[in-house]
Amino acid sequence: MGTFQLTYATMFDPPEELHTRFEEALKKAQGTLGSEYGMIINGEEAFAKHKFKSYNPSNTEEVLGIFQTGTAKDANDAVAAAKSAFPSWSRTPWQERVLLLRKAADIMDERLFDIAAATSLEVGKNRMEALGDVAETPALIRWACDEMEENQGFVVQMGKDPLVGYNGTNHSVLRPYGVWLVISPFNFPAALTGGPVGAALVAGNTVVMKPATDTPWTVRLLAECFVDAGLPEGVVNYITGSGSVLGQALVDNSAVDGLTFTGSYDVGMGIFRNFAQGNYIRPTILEMGGKNPAIVSRHADVERAALGIVRSAFGLQGQKCSACSRVYIEEPLYDQVVNRVVELTSELRIGNPTDRSVYLGPVANSWAYRDFLTFTDELKEAGTVLTGGEVLTEGEFINGYFCAPTIAADVPLNHRLWKHEMFLPITMVHKVQSLEDAMALANDVDYGLTSGFYGTKEEAQWFFDNTQAGVNYANRPQGATTGAWPGYQPFGGWKGSGSSGKNAGGHYYLQLYMHEQIQTLIE
Ligand code: NAP
Ligand code: MG
Repeated sequence: MGTFQLTYATMFDPPEELHTRFEEALKKAQGTLGSEYGMIINGEEAFAKHKFKSYNPSNTEEVLGIFQTGTAKDANDAVAAAKSAFPSWSRTPWQERVLLLRKAADIMDERLFDIAAATSLEVGKNRMEALGDVAETPALIRWACDEMEENQGFVVQMGKDPLVGYNGTNHSVLRPYGVWLVISPFNFPAALTGGPVGAALVAGNTVVMKPATDTPWTVRLLAECFVDAGLPEGVVNYITGSGSVLGQALVDNSAVDGLTFTGSYDVGMGIFRNFAQGNYIRPTILEMGGKNPAIVSRHADVERAALGIVRSAFGLQGQKCSACSRVYIEEPLYDQVVNRVVELTSELRIGNPTDRSVYLGPVANSWAYRDFLTFTDELKEAGTVLTGGEVLTEGEFINGYFCAPTIAADVPLNHRLWKHEMFLPITMVHKVQSLEDAMALANDVDYGLTSGFYGTKEEAQWFFDNTQAGVNYANRPQGATTGAWPGYQPFGGWKGSGSSGKNAGGHYYLQLYMHEQIQTLIE
């Protein structure tokens, strides 16, 4: 593929080879549909009495795979396996851990198309979004490896204290915590499982990963990459089952030393409170929802703004934590921007996300589909739906969860949906008289994940200074609020969007997986 580097910002004009390889992989994946997959506990396949199916949200008559309904016992077995693997893994020189993790990343690259085909079928991602999710995973793992190397394993010689008659040395060493739990969401099953798993492992922790019930297949294929890289048994475990039973048992297990949860605010805050019931405080990295605004100044480039807003509102059917769900536009440009956004939205192709020409696939599951109906009813009642507002049920849409991309206007500012993360292809637009008014509204939510701006360079600096969010973009047509990539836009949220204040894929992330130990030695 020559010098093409796939990121979310470059995916709009991919080389032809990307398409042919995706299509080959898709055929291969379709040949495996309906297979049964075990959990992986202590290096062995583990099977449960009860099973569940992963369905294709484009066609719910298609079963993608059969997975294990793991129980609390499976959760505890996986934690025990990780615990017994920890002493030896944590004592493995970091250089060796880095080598093994780089090998896992290479295997993911080799299987990029195969895993992406599964992700496209399982999540309903269009092919470029699916490739992006999977390609980001080795990028995140390599980033963690690079950080470990640049910091030479985080061993730092400190000052010598002014002792008279003694020779002493002081070292600061970052060391792993122990068993690390990674709970991931359905929308980026590869990157948001593999990224934290990679960081935890490079740091020397052992891992138990639990995917969302909607996406066990992608994560199983990813877990196989870690196993096939030659990580010792028990260092990485993969278990499946419901959040409320298996997930809860993991969070309640006192042998878990730290966790990374990515998912909704409500579930994340529940986990935070439960995890705090232990005997002492354990590191809790929470990456939660968003209600991400875009602000358009009267000086904005209308085309860039409209493109960026549409891509961020409707990419992955609005089911990104970074999706643009609110747009505040200064009055002089309001009509122009809104008209162009509506026009671009009505040109988006909806359908089977594995098809090359399709931009919007189905939403994830029946709950999301029902939420769409509820929210659009509310918006029709409270304001004006400019386009969309309907589910699609005819012809090719008959067995899938397809929702038309929807733009709502004139919704009173006290309406609950201005503050509620809908996580669907719905965005709301609002006319403002000044940028100050726009900023006050933009910041008036409990979330603070991403935000976007269109205007002059000077205004953009004002925007960066005043917005309350972890990842911010100005004048970006590739996405108003979406499209982060490790090493370029480290990703994380403020306020109710994230707990650590440090972004994944940035310079302060890997350290979250280690605690500092000071070693003073008098010779
Ligand atoms: P979710 O419903 O909160 O579920 C996330 C994970 O938590 C799933 O694996 C789920 O398992 C598990 N879980 C549920 N209840 C649990 C419990 N009591 N104990 C332990 N685990 C439990 O989120 P989702 O619908 O999959 O994903 C969408 C949400 O994720 C959105 O809010 C989105 O904004 C957020 N998100 C945030 C980021 C970020 O970086 N900040 C990135 C992506 C997504 P089950 O599936 O089995 O219930
Ligand atoms: Mg499914």
